[in-house]
Amino acid sequence: MQNKYFALIGLSTILFSPCLTSCCQHCQASAPQSAIPAADSIPADSSQHLSLLVAGDLMQHDVQIRCALMPDGSYDYSSYFRWVKPEIERADVAIANLEVTLAGKPYKGYPQFSAPDEYLYAIKDAGFDLLTTTNNHACDRGLKGVLRTIQMCDSVGMPHIGTYVDSMARVEQYPYLLEQNGFRIALLNFTYGTNELPTPKPTHVNRTDTAQIAGDILKAKAMNPDLIIALPHWGIEYETLPRKHMVRLAQWLIDKGVDHVIGGHPHVVQPIELRRDSLAGTEHLVAYSLGNFVSDQAGFPKYGGIMLRIDFTKQGPHQPAHISDCGYMLTFVARPDWSKRKNHRIYPVNIADSLLNRVESQKRDTFVTMARDLFKQHNIDIEEYFIPDSILNQVSQVNP
Ligand SMILES: [Zn+2]
Repeated sequence: MQNKYFALIGLSTILFSPCLTSCCQHCQASAPQSAIPAADSIPADSSQHLSLLVAGDLMQHDVQIRCALMPDGSYDYSSYFRWVKPEIERADVAIANLEVTLAGKPYKGYPQFSAPDEYLYAIKDAGFDLLTTTNNHACDRGLKGVLRTIQMCDSVGMPHIGTYVDSMARVEQYPYLLEQNGFRIALLNFTYGTNELPTPKPTHVNRTDTAQIAGDILKAKAMNPDLIIALPHWGIEYETLPRKHMVRLAQWLIDKGVDHVIGGHPHVVQPIELRRDSLAGTEHLVAYSLGNFVSDQAGFPKYGGIMLRIDFTKQGPHQPAHISDCGYMLTFVARPDWSKRKNHRIYPVNIADSLLNRVESQKRDTFVTMARDLFKQHNIDIEEYFIPDSILNQVSQVNP
């Protein structure tokens, strides 16, 4: 499906360019001046486009913290996103789930995470534009954890959704209205729980409270958005199929007016469905779990994840938005235990074999086989795509 990547680029080139390059050269070389219409008489393409990329859980286990530590006491995450950064940056908007707090020192991994601030800087540098902060680890470090995570995101200009300094901040900031490329997208984010830790007062951590969510959806609709997307933190860890309660909740959200549902938490990938009803004129994308984007979880298949890409198009400012293309990219984490390198790396699965040792190749192949088998059986109307080898080669040449 490598062509799909080029198809996306090709489509945008056609849509955004007044004329293809080869055509322009031909026109300028051979057509009489009078045959070239004045620029203002060419009907402008009023269609609007937005590409959205959503990645899974950004974890930070003890081993990751230890491996990232530098001799001067700082933390280096430059290896993490190198091979996926071109794809993250290519999207107009990239979202991931920050499943740690930024509570400051002492830094700690599981079970009550506090990640180094440098981790956030690296996530921002990778090209992410928004982080979800509501998940079962949101309250790991009590009041300081909730507040400092929000403050750190604010201080680096990283928009966030799901946790709030108090209920007034939630009223003002939620649902999150994403405005980009002429699109208005209302985002919702809520978690099934916080590992039985209480929400520290006066903060607010969004829960899966259907009465409240129904109200939030009404509020989202009042924002007059093109789309409403829900990002639930849900499900059962390490299960590769959604439970009935997830299927029911996804349908409930859609029935209430949510367009697309993209979830996480199980730390493994689960199926993706693009449900299109041409008679009703509706389309709903449901991705149950994107898996881990980066973690130190070694067990199969926890070291693998999905980057989900959705391209939206609308024909004009007041026209309905629809999905013009979508696909998923499989990624896996090369842990230092396996790679014998200093730090963790997220690789797209089509990374060159020459960059991987035997253990990494084996881990990659096992994950790919499982994921493709699962998706072949359960996915609906969505296909895998890849970062072009040429881009991966460029990255590898600079940073082998
Ligand atoms: Zn979780």
